[in-house]
Amino acid sequence: MSFDPEAIRSEFPGLAELRDGRPYTYLDSAATAHKPRCVIERVAELLGPAYGTVHRGLYRRAAQMTERYEQARRTVARFLDADPGEIVFTAGCTDALNLVAHGWGRAHLRPGDRILVSGMEHHAGLVSWHTAGFKPEPIPLRDDGSLDLEAYDRLLAAGGVKLVGCVHISNALGTINPVAELARRAHAAGALFCLDAAQSAPHLPLSVRALGCDFLAFAGHKVYGPTGIGVLWARRELLEAMPPWRGGGEMIERVSFAGTTYAAPPARFEAGTPPFVEAIGLATALEWLMAQDRAAILAHERAIYDYAERRLAEVPGLRRIGTAPERGGALSFVLACAHPADIAAVLDAQHIAIRAGHHCAQPVMERFRVSATARASIALYTTRADIDRLHDGLQTCVRLFG
Ligand code: PMP
Repeated sequence: MSFDPEAIRSEFPGLAELRDGRPYTYLDSAATAHKPRCVIERVAELLGPAYGTVHRGLYRRAAQMTERYEQARRTVARFLDADPGEIVFTAGCTDALNLVAHGWGRAHLRPGDRILVSGMEHHAGLVSWHTAGFKPEPIPLRDDGSLDLEAYDRLLAAGGVKLVGCVHISNALGTINPVAELARRAHAAGALFCLDAAQSAPHLPLSVRALGCDFLAFAGHKVYGPTGIGVLWARRELLEAMPPWRGGGEMIERVSFAGTTYAAPPARFEAGTPPFVEAIGLATALEWLMAQDRAAILAHERAIYDYAERRLAEVPGLRRIGTAPERGGALSFVLACAHPADIAAVLDAQHIAIRAGHHCAQPVMERFRVSATARASIALYTTRADIDRLHDGLQTCVRLFG
């Protein structure tokens, strides 16, 4: 198999729009990815002729939807090299990480227990702990945006660490963390390892077994699927020892006014009518992705990333934030002459979409002493022409503001 980015682009209606004759240069896939036609059509079918609820109904449509929902769970399990009984559908990656903090954390952490998170954590993996009443300690970052592994060892050696949380790829820096090694060291210190795979799921093959993590979270909308759906994977024994976080329909064995006994996982964590259209839409996206030549996609994305780095280096006064040896997906930068918001506005006028801001990673901004960065991020449909237009747009910024 091989991979043709131009051909794949034509499968994405969201990229087709011309503005004043200019093609759409979409470089914000780290925020959310566009959807291939098969996902859009599947969701339309599910909301239209196939529509019916899951679990509750005894009629044919409901039975069919239930089967498709459970089939979606099996697809996600295949995507993660996991067991379907270990897949919990959530409302997103944020929701999945909140389930770890509020479900596992509140049940198992005692006063004095410590949590470590990377200094490049997305707020989803940090604020979720704060709202659950915990205060994770940061694993510091080196100046290139990689994790300081010696400091990590020292933090672990001080004792009492029960869980380490880390992003696989940083959405703010593009750093790819050595997560299998981080997990190995966490386990050696008696801690669990929770992986935020929001940014890696669209790019890297994920195997929970090979990575050796205990929890893994990702979001559907960044991996070419619908919004409103995410996944928490956790080892079965962890799920079994976790109380539910939310109560309601479908997560119970028996309810009376005296109390409730809860269903086994994963149902225990899926209270209420689940986002079944979105879950099946996500499975469609993952089937579509898994049917592609993923090694060729990875090679294409690496080549585009390298090309983007070379072209950005030509822009006068541009400084990259995040230059770790292992990096990919997202490129953060600042210009000496313009605020990131102004850069984004100038680019938007040229029909180029990038992100400007703190990327829900304010501690990263603080670490690199910037209030915000501009960020271009790539996906499998990104082409060299997109990068050339970004380069030209940034040169316009330099002419306007420099
Ligand atoms: N973690 C990382 C690394 C992310 O980039 C994001 C989204 N920007 C999230 C978590 C949260 O994902 P969502 O907003 O889809 O829940």
